[in-house]
Amino acid sequence: MTLQENVSLKPYNTFGIAATSQYFTDISAPIDFQILMQSGLLNAFPFFILGGGSNVVFNKLFAGIVVKISLKGITVEEETADTVLVKAAAGEVWSDFVDFCVDHNFYGAENLTAIPGTVGASPVQNVGAYGVEAKDIIESVEAYEILTGKQCIFSNSDCQFDYRSSIFKTELKSKYIVASVTFRLNKLPKLNLEYGAIRTEMEKAGITDPTLADVSRIISEIREEKLPNPDKIGSAGSFFKNPVIPVAQYEALKEKYPALVAYPHKGEYKVAAGWLIEQCGWKDRQFGNVGVYPKQALVLYNLGDCTGEEVKALAKEIQQSVETHFGITLEPEAIFV
Ligand SMILES: Cc1cc2nc3c(=O)[nH]c(=O)nc-3n(C[C@H](O)[C@H](O)[C@H](O)COP(=O)(O)OP(=O)(O)OC[C@H]3O[C@@H](n4cnc5c(N)ncnc54)[C@H](O)[C@@H]3O)c2cc1C
Repeated sequence: MTLQENVSLKPYNTFGIAATSQYFTDISAPIDFQILMQSGLLNAFPFFILGGGSNVVFNKLFAGIVVKISLKGITVEEETADTVLVKAAAGEVWSDFVDFCVDHNFYGAENLTAIPGTVGASPVQNVGAYGVEAKDIIESVEAYEILTGKQCIFSNSDCQFDYRSSIFKTELKSKYIVASVTFRLNKLPKLNLEYGAIRTEMEKAGITDPTLADVSRIISEIREEKLPNPDKIGSAGSFFKNPVIPVAQYEALKEKYPALVAYPHKGEYKVAAGWLIEQCGWKDRQFGNVGVYPKQALVLYNLGDCTGEEVKALAKEIQQSVETHFGITLEPEAIFV
């Protein structure tokens, strides 16, 4: 483990924000965890655990230590006739893990194709797309307690998964580093095609009996069409969570705005944040170096050399206008560091 000083974070965040970390270290072997924790650095300095940087907005200077998790390895741990346990190290690229499952005909991860980021962030964020969330396939999470260096295993229910959230973002925020995640996948064919445009796109492509690879490819294509490709355009994906509102508030809004886009969610309603933002007139607008993505108002993107401060200012204006217009508070999904 080496400790570097004054490291540029630009290559380490998909928004492409220019920022500097006072200290930076890369964890690429399990022994590095022990060295890091015994060093006392995490008690002496503010720290941030970094995966692929695909959901973060950095300020110009992080006066502390950024710990980049780069542990690699994907292994099949156990197999029965029906299911298989696959363990992936935290630094594995999430889409490489999904591709591994698709290539081996393991069902369950395919709808999560092409989500940027690492395996280690998947239980923290409970990533989700096309009707599936990481919680649906996570068996357990191996993590190190930062204070003691103790290794712990969290079962699926220990993780207290919720919409884009888990115990690692709430009660245990900044208390654990995820080292690996074990997923339970199906060996028997089981596809989830009912969400969004999957079926329509399958029909258009003339696919009647889709394979895992077909599903993964179609979802990649739909995503490519709607979302900025992080290799080409800087963003953090959906910038805000879809707000969940009580039934009475939903009914009142629906009466006033019949086109309101919302779905039932655990006895309440989840409203499409992108729709709210678009109705407030933000879509395809540009402010300095930050813009609201023309194809999806939920995405803020980098027009050049944007700073975290610019992103934060635009996000605040959007929040205020949605609040004024609809009485709904938007919560950022992206994390300000
Ligand atoms: C174009 C685009 C599309 C996206 N689409 C989706 C989508 O469809 N669905 C979705 O859910 N998200 C989506 N996202 C958001 C993002 O991909 C996810 O939040 C992803 O899980 C972040 O992973 P990461 O490794 O980049 O984490 P980072 O951004 O580096 O970190 C995110 C959080 O996880 C913590 N963390 C990371 N690794 C660890 C670890 N090993 N141990 C402990 N804590 C850790 C960090 O401290 C931070 O709090 C999208 C982002 C982009 C840019």
